[in-house]
Amino acid sequence: MALPVTAYAMKPDALNQLFKGPENQETMPVLFIGHGSPMNAIELNEFSRGWQQVGKSLPTPRAILCISAHWETRGTFVTAAEKPRTIHDFGGFPQELYEVQYPAPGSPALANETRQLISDTEVGLDSSWGLDHGAWSVIKHLYPDARIPVVQLSLDYTKSPQQHYEMARQLARLRRKGVLIIGSGNLVHNLRTINWRMPETGFDWAMEADSQIRNRIKEGNHQALMNYKQAGGAFNMAIPTPEHFIPLIYTLALQNKNEEATFFNAKTIMGSISMTSVKIG
Ligand code: ZN
Repeated sequence: MALPVTAYAMKPDALNQLFKGPENQETMPVLFIGHGSPMNAIELNEFSRGWQQVGKSLPTPRAILCISAHWETRGTFVTAAEKPRTIHDFGGFPQELYEVQYPAPGSPALANETRQLISDTEVGLDSSWGLDHGAWSVIKHLYPDARIPVVQLSLDYTKSPQQHYEMARQLARLRRKGVLIIGSGNLVHNLRTINWRMPETGFDWAMEADSQIRNRIKEGNHQALMNYKQAGGAFNMAIPTPEHFIPLIYTLALQNKNEEATFFNAKTIMGSISMTSVKIG
């Protein structure tokens, strides 16, 4: 859903040089996280534990750039607020979940650098969004002390998977500047067919799609994944709408030729949700 976007007046002193200049760090890994239920934010379960372990295994990033399934816009925007708000963009959950705050700072400098790196698309600086649950429910487990700045990049719902891929490739330099890029969605995400009586497993078609997606990732066959609509069969059910799948396209676009993809939290639950997550590098 597109929300009104207000122009962000960048103060010159906010344009610090943090992300300017030459790349000077070892290449940061890239993640795709299957986020699933917002309840994972406050539950300690196999998935949130998996996120915590990954957080501990990574070099400490200077900042995080997150592409979440839950921020869709017409046009591309990047959050530029110095103090992004915690957005509780869900309904019908316990009060405890609405009380969670994740007070990580923003980074106007990273927002501006991101905007400048993307040359084929006009990227707007946004001060009306913040951190949606696709970002904070996961990052809260990766970095519980909320000290690492977090910036979100929106998903332009008018772009094709190929266009998202081409745009994401332009962000590669951020990896060498200490920025952890996280795509947050779900490889299989069909809310219409969710079955609460199947908490620990998936429908055959859901597990088939999850397995096929993992195989394409292992083969490095990004093109097949961008063409998911033509794959038919299980993919039609697994990806009824693009927003939870496209963050994977951002993660894959940043994979270098020699880099391996590894999987964690690889499990399909509640019939039609895959929690499978990917680490590149
Ligand atoms: Zn979601």
